[in-house]
Amino acid sequence: MEIKAIRGTKDILPKNSQIWCFIEGKAKGLCELYGYRQIRTPLLEEARLFARSIGEATDIVQKEMYSFLDRKKRLLCLRPEATASVVRAYLEHGLDKSAHLAKFYYFGPMFRAERPQAGRLRQFHHIGVEAIGSLSPYLDAEVISLAVKILQEIGLEGFSVQLNSIGCRKDRQKYKLILRKALKNKLKLLCCDCHSRYKVNLLRIFDCKNVACKKVTRRLPSIVDSLCPQCRGHFFKVKQILNSLNISYTLNPHLVRGLDYYTKTCFEFVHPHLGAQNAVGAGGRYDDLVSDLGGPEKPAVGFALGIERLIAAIAPGKEAEQANKIFPSLYVAVIGDEARQLAFKTLHSLREQGIFCEMDYHDKSLKGQMRQADKLRAKYVAILGETELKKEVVILRDMQNKSQKEVKIDKLAEELK
Ligand SMILES: [Zn+2]
Ligand SMILES: [Zn+2]
Repeated sequence: MEIKAIRGTKDILPKNSQIWCFIEGKAKGLCELYGYRQIRTPLLEEARLFARSIGEATDIVQKEMYSFLDRKKRLLCLRPEATASVVRAYLEHGLDKSAHLAKFYYFGPMFRAERPQAGRLRQFHHIGVEAIGSLSPYLDAEVISLAVKILQEIGLEGFSVQLNSIGCRKDRQKYKLILRKALKNKLKLLCCDCHSRYKVNLLRIFDCKNVACKKVTRRLPSIVDSLCPQCRGHFFKVKQILNSLNISYTLNPHLVRGLDYYTKTCFEFVHPHLGAQNAVGAGGRYDDLVSDLGGPEKPAVGFALGIERLIAAIAPGKEAEQANKIFPSLYVAVIGDEARQLAFKTLHSLREQGIFCEMDYHDKSLKGQMRQADKLRAKYVAILGETELKKEVVILRDMQNKSQKEVKIDKLAEELK
């Protein structure tokens, strides 16, 4: 067919969906164990929600948003991430009034209109959590430990937690002045992109992959030295709690996260298998976002994990290993049309009793049906021919040891259980 999936989007076929269900299932169980509850927000939002939260000057808002005018000329967009949507929903439904602390988790697709490349899709998927309403450093440690637990439970090995604090807005203003001063005479050493970052989104220069830029940024002063006593104390406490939980982390003073709403603790989960796009997830505090979006002062912290990245990072071969582990308990093979009618009725009643069973939909020969049952790895085959039809029985064949016996049709469920 000439119509194909849009570039940068991907079909997840049944043979690959098992690992998705596995990862989401583990994450769901753990999030709920930690007291987080599921939220589902629309994929479509007003574009200004993200301009106001992520920041006008960020790459996401400037170049990567899937935004468009709808028929009523409203500027809408497909969400590039979920944090701002969750905060919008939190405020819209007055959850800031009813709950002291609100803890959410979500799964779902996010969209960025960037050039598709290895490890980057236009529609990609996140698992994330948001805890809104507390400044407690225990909450920072909780979300980090929850993410680590998810990564461990899905079998990811060799990842590391990169940790930093970027302080409050005042600290960042102070740090930006120091950075500008330090960079003033080195501008000619930086790439084009970094030149524009220098003007509009200074902290983003630390994310530049350019070797020459890295050489310069490596020697720049660290933001940690610009933290006020309160932010410094908060960061100290977060590290102390993580130590007490034996969660290891690497301090990365140049981890700054490019989004405007981050404050204090920020972190990334990196994995060596992934090359340049080596983060499987990231997160941090965003103490000002709720008030920036018109709500009260509600400090918050969260993270998001990229499901495609997780799958790529889990040792190769796991995808196939996870695939297709569900096999039918029974395959009903028939001879003749009357038998087919009864077989389908039997299938219907067995399914109502929770038994996974299959039959042929192609008028195959008995031999063909047996081959199909083998291919589906059915545990038993029930053969229903003219003779059996008269006696209201089937010949039930154990596909493993090849033994068979006659079983009354109405006793089939019992026999299989
Ligand atoms: Zn501060
Ligand atoms: Zn650069």
